[in-house]
Amino acid sequence: MHKILLAETSKHHLQALLASPQAKHYQIEKVFTGPELLKKLESFDADLLLIDQMLPEMHGIELLRHLRNHLSKKRGIIICCSFAMIQNYRAAMREGADYFLEKPYTPDLFFQLANRYFAGTLQPEPFSRSSSEKLSEHCYLPRYHAPDCYLKFWGTRGSNPVAGPGYVRYGGNTACLEIRHHADLVIIDAGSGIRPLGQILAQEKIKTIHLLIGHTHWDHIVGLPFFEPLYDPDCEIHLYSPVGFEKEAKMLFTEMLAYAFFPVRLDEIQAKLHFHALHSHVPLIFGEIAITPHYAYHPGATLCFKIRAGNKTIGYATDNEFLMGYHGNPLDVDLDHPLLEPQLGLVEFFQGCDLLIHEAQYTPLEYTHKIGWGHSSITNATILVRHTAARQWIVTHHDPSHTDDILETLLQIHHDVLDDCQIFCQVRHAFDSLTLPL
Ligand SMILES: [Zn+2]
Ligand SMILES: [Zn+2]
Repeated sequence: MHKILLAETSKHHLQALLASPQAKHYQIEKVFTGPELLKKLESFDADLLLIDQMLPEMHGIELLRHLRNHLSKKRGIIICCSFAMIQNYRAAMREGADYFLEKPYTPDLFFQLANRYFAGTLQPEPFSRSSSEKLSEHCYLPRYHAPDCYLKFWGTRGSNPVAGPGYVRYGGNTACLEIRHHADLVIIDAGSGIRPLGQILAQEKIKTIHLLIGHTHWDHIVGLPFFEPLYDPDCEIHLYSPVGFEKEAKMLFTEMLAYAFFPVRLDEIQAKLHFHALHSHVPLIFGEIAITPHYAYHPGATLCFKIRAGNKTIGYATDNEFLMGYHGNPLDVDLDHPLLEPQLGLVEFFQGCDLLIHEAQYTPLEYTHKIGWGHSSITNATILVRHTAARQWIVTHHDPSHTDDILETLLQIHHDVLDDCQIFCQVRHAFDSLTLPL
């Protein structure tokens, strides 16, 4: 009776081999490591070895070399391997294996090979990639996102543009967000980030542009004169802004584009400009994109937005001082807290959003010196996140004094506050060019 020694690491394969009816035609022993195999051969003079290439303590190829160099008896050797890689195959063949058996294999196949070996007809087969081809039958593919449906941050800085080695990761352009849904395009805010966006739109020859301005502080309009489509006579630009406390938008932009500040006046702009008023709670529809404004807590008439596009609903608030003057623990502010009552409308407005994009410009300590500046502390913004039950939060409108390294530290504070409050929400910082599929 021929003797077979099995050095197979897979319990499943080993059990199947030993349980096979064909096993009774052979005398079979098993080992689990390379050194065990060498020791076993001293007492069990096997004619055929099945060696797992990934054998513990001594790699299958090393074992083959050892057998060839130190043991004179010719034995059949079948190398089995779960990685169908050409390098593994070639190494096994070079070191004298009789056959490269790819896992998974059936006991029937193994015993067929054994019979062929003992009949003197076993020949190695050329390397095949058959197992990889089989994968395609049950291949998992993540969901598909249309490449022309997205939100893109072109500016994520608040107050003032910044530049320099401390700002390379998150960028230094002020607020600008592009919303694309196939042919529909809406831009929110014309901070310095709108300049590079304008170059792309000009290249794409887009002729109708809807631009919403949440409020007319410098960081939200400073890029407007450098927006390339303004100088295309075939372009039509609809500019929407809240009705201000002082002058209407057209007057503000006339003053901004005066020769004293800029070489081109508003009435010399070549694109056709249309000015529209934005009103809180009054939705606007741009094809497949719907946008509803809501008052934010910030000096002057300021709006934040709820964006609906595709199947997503996104809240966007760049400038919002939530719970002005509160410095306590976010967990102490329940929905019936008197401080929250005036802002419940905003909480309801953002409830149900898939993603909340909301500023958190100050650390709790910084906020003690900046009450009434129109921006939230990390902890107070967390209270809004908690009550809207947002599962994803992107923090934008970063303070110009917060360098990349400081923002990383702030992100840790965000994680710690969310952890302490047991709020299950993914949080990250926006950066210039961050693109999210819709
Ligand atoms: Zn701002
Ligand atoms: Zn502002």
